[in-house]
Amino acid sequence: MELNLLTFIYLFASVTFIVGLKMLSHPDSARNGNRVAAFGMTLAILGTIFLYEKEGARLGNYQWIFGGILIGAVVGTLAAKRVKMTAMPEMVSLFNGMGGACAALISLVEFDHSAVKGFLPIIVLGLVIGSVSFAGSIIAWGKLNGSIKDFSFKGQHLFNILLLGVIVTLASYLIIFLPASAFFIFYTIFFLSLLYGVFFVFPIGGADMPVVISLLNSFTGVAAACGGFLYDNKVMLTGGILVGAAGTLLTILMCKAMNRSLTNVLLGSFGGAGKTNASAGAAVGTHKEISLSDTAVLMSYATKVYIVPGYGLAVAQAQHACHELEKLLESKGVDVKYAIHPVAGRMPGHMNVLLAEADVPYEKLLEMEQANDEFSTTDVVLVLGANDVVNPAAKSDTSSPIYGMPILDVELAKHVIVNKRSMKPGYAGIENELFFRSKTSMLFGDAKKVLQDLVAEIKNL
Ligand code: NDP
Repeated sequence: MELNLLTFIYLFASVTFIVGLKMLSHPDSARNGNRVAAFGMTLAILGTIFLYEKEGARLGNYQWIFGGILIGAVVGTLAAKRVKMTAMPEMVSLFNGMGGACAALISLVEFDHSAVKGFLPIIVLGLVIGSVSFAGSIIAWGKLNGSIKDFSFKGQHLFNILLLGVIVTLASYLIIFLPASAFFIFYTIFFLSLLYGVFFVFPIGGADMPVVISLLNSFTGVAAACGGFLYDNKVMLTGGILVGAAGTLLTILMCKAMNRSLTNVLLGSFGGAGKTNASAGAAVGTHKEISLSDTAVLMSYATKVYIVPGYGLAVAQAQHACHELEKLLESKGVDVKYAIHPVAGRMPGHMNVLLAEADVPYEKLLEMEQANDEFSTTDVVLVLGANDVVNPAAKSDTSSPIYGMPILDVELAKHVIVNKRSMKPGYAGIENELFFRSKTSMLFGDAKKVLQDLVAEIKNL
């Protein structure tokens, strides 16, 4: 009876994961999607704690289980509440690393466990993938928050391939022959997998971390699914597979939006510190500046204005000031919309989440293709802290690292005003010719301050 109830709970929880995931795909339903999946997960955890039975015995050890849950819940809640939006990828990475560590721990505990003989391939697979995901995620977290510097040496990619080869060979030997030294080999595989995770992420360009985190996320999903297989736990299996599949799809979509292959992300050192410095000073002409008052006049008397938000808007936390400008212009009869590039910012949907936080109506957000059709009839495009996503080199310069990436064709508009703090490049570390073109004027300053001043200026007109 109880086993049936538990099976039903697992089935129900699996359905909530799928429904929740589906709801996450739209900003309006995303919050509730999270709640639905979290509810299912809570039910599955409680069901396992109180209803799971093995050889007539329940789990017990409740003080340890609930002690762990309490500590984890407090730490997780505080971390999630305090994290800044721009630091979200690094927090996801840290939490993902914990998931990988859990999967690896399951393998470490269950190895040599008489009850799971015959499951050795799954145990070894969980150990390798979980350890790589844990070590890699910690390096990604450190690289994103600046506590770990980029590190690479000549022949590192070859070293990584060799290391992976040794892990696969040892794992195969262990599984096929189960030699007397199995314990030693198992722990050697564990150590080498951790090392591989570190060296796998180290050479990847610092700014490519969000893509790598998504990939590591899918690794953790697969490692967790191994645990589900091992314990014959259906909800762990379904959850793990869903995370694995979603992470893989997200990785592919991010690469596609940047028009780059995964190999290029993993081997390209894209956005690394060296590259940024190398091209930062390569000016391609002279730029012209525009004053705040001229910008205020130009925007107030326009019929149609498009705002292009980018990473700098998130850094400046200027979303509320931006919404205020939009409402003010609308009150003057100007049609204001936002043009959202799929990889603007530093994580998928970054700009959508940012603007939703400031209550910008979702209908005002246009996807890249729609916006590109509108620019030719637009009076002013205001580029706010965006750089790469409006860089024409992606269309014309075959030697550019972003060549082939679809961009927002802001130049089709009558006037382009770019707000940023300096002439420094963005994520890809390359010069942007748009800033030097005749239609473009630079409005320097921190996005939040500039927008607040602009609002005040327009009110005074
Ligand atoms: P970019 O990183 O290209 O440019 C951001 C610009 O914002 C910088 O040039 C910077 O210039 C400016 N900026 C920074 N702080 C401020 C501030 N306080 N006020 C005003 N401006 C500021 O951003 P984009 O959004 O255009 O492009 C995103 C890039 O990230 C793309 O190359 C994409 O491929 C990449 N990427 C995106 C991912 C995603 O999922 N969204 C994942 C991985 C990579 P300055 O310093 O002069 O102020």
